Amino acid sequence: MTNSRTNGVNGVNGINDNSSKQKPEIVIVGGSLGGLFAGVALKTHGYNTTLLERTPVNLLHNQGAGIVAGGDTIEFFKRYDRTGKPVAVPSYKRLYLNQKGDIIHEEVNRQNMTSWDLCYYLLRANYDRVDSPYLADVKLPEERSTDGKVTYCYGCTLTNLVEEGSKVRVHYKRKQDDSSDSDASILADLVIGADGPSSTIRKILEPSVERKYAGYVVIRGTVPESEGSEAALSVFRERFCFFHAPGIQNLTYTIAGEHGNTNPGHRLLNFVWYANFPEGGSELEKVMTDKDGRRRHITIPPGMMSEDAWNLLKDKADERLPPQMAEMAHKTREPFVQCITDVISPKNLYMNDKVVLVGDALAGFRPHTVASTSQAAFDVMSLVDWLDGKIDRKQFVKQVMSWARLIQARGVTMGDRSQFQTLPVEEYIKDRNLASRKRQEDVYPEWVFKGIDEI
Ligand SMILES: Cc1cc2nc3c(=O)[nH]c(=O)nc-3n(C[C@H](O)[C@H](O)[C@H](O)COP(=O)(O)OP(=O)(O)OC[C@H]3O[C@@H](n4cnc5c(N)ncnc54)[C@H](O)[C@@H]3O)c2cc1C
Repeated sequence: MTNSRTNGVNGVNGINDNSSKQKPEIVIVGGSLGGLFAGVALKTHGYNTTLLERTPVNLLHNQGAGIVAGGDTIEFFKRYDRTGKPVAVPSYKRLYLNQKGDIIHEEVNRQNMTSWDLCYYLLRANYDRVDSPYLADVKLPEERSTDGKVTYCYGCTLTNLVEEGSKVRVHYKRKQDDSSDSDASILADLVIGADGPSSTIRKILEPSVERKYAGYVVIRGTVPESEGSEAALSVFRERFCFFHAPGIQNLTYTIAGEHGNTNPGHRLLNFVWYANFPEGGSELEKVMTDKDGRRRHITIPPGMMSEDAWNLLKDKADERLPPQMAEMAHKTREPFVQCITDVISPKNLYMNDKVVLVGDALAGFRPHTVASTSQAAFDVMSLVDWLDGKIDRKQFVKQVMSWARLIQARGVTMGDRSQFQTLPVEEYIKDRNLASRKRQEDVYPEWVFKGIDEI
């Protein structure tokens, strides 16, 4: 990338530009939602991309869990999805339960719920035309003559970035068929770091920035709608249902079922249950040690929880949760656990604008914000606007960084209020309503802009 600070990579305007001008080589690191958002948008705007994903197989493993689809996630699919498949299941009401399972507060509030796997497969269909049962009732997108070239490389783990004049050399290890690794590298005009909350790129560029445990975990799982009791269905079906108690928050809602099926009766009930486990405590060690005896740092993936840990959590569910939510814990087949963590990078652009961080690599939000996927979508749509010259560099940095700072801090406040303070339910309702506010309506305090002009 040149020093052009207003018009994106090498000053190339991407939209429909298939002229003889040299296209910038863009390397995307990370093939989850953030990386695929970047790949799909850049392809549509005529940029050539190579995507490096460390997972050694072509498709990422589906955790089968729900995502609250914020405004920017929906906007992204509206702009770029060519399959026409509905990405979200609506929820029409918010309900709050007490521990007996009675509804103590109810408000009409439409919200869109989607699932990680549906988003993932729609994005892969749009990026490198991966066919899947998720496309059963729609068609695989056609290529357009104006599309950029795409190359998806799995089993490729970024290890280093080195500036080489106006370019960046991306070093990575490539998994061979015999499971050994070989070293490889690729020269890029722009590198998009979409390598998640433990980003290697961020560690290389900002070694002092740490990802820190917040003192509680989230236990997640799904139950087929067809297996829910009447009591459970009456509060979870097309509802966003909450429960708060000291050190506990549980929210449960309906998401698309197998292969993105949004038909009633075929969907899933998705639960998200936050529970405190102090750092260094024996219970945290038990929960975070998988069935093979390995202490996992951040995540126990589906299918890997030990029986002891799951029994401990089910006992806690019976003791502390409303019966409908305890039912979900008993009926889910593949629960998984993630430690809640905090991390944010001070900047999004590095190496003279040749490296940009997006999504969780830029800022790992606490999930209470329901904004991680939307952050990735917003960062990418903003990046494309900058590359296309619709906004200048200053505006790009300002809008992305101020929102990342605002929502990251909001997540810490919301999470700490929920897990470490005992407040009247009205306070939690207020927090939740704040998290649902449209990005465009957010109020930005002065501090979120501090130092942004120097980035
Ligand atoms: C497999 C998977 C399943 C998920 N399931 C859910 C879910 O069910 N519900 C939910 O709310 N959120 C889920 N998430 C998280 C959600 O995708 C993100 O919070 C959000 O969409 C922003 O994503 P991201 O792409 O910025 O980061 P992430 O989703 O964390 O993706 C980072 C990607 O980068 C890859 N990567 C990391 N380091 C390297 C490296 N050095 N070289 C190459 N590649 C690298 C990782 O393998 C991963 O695919 C999931 C994430 C993953 C990876």
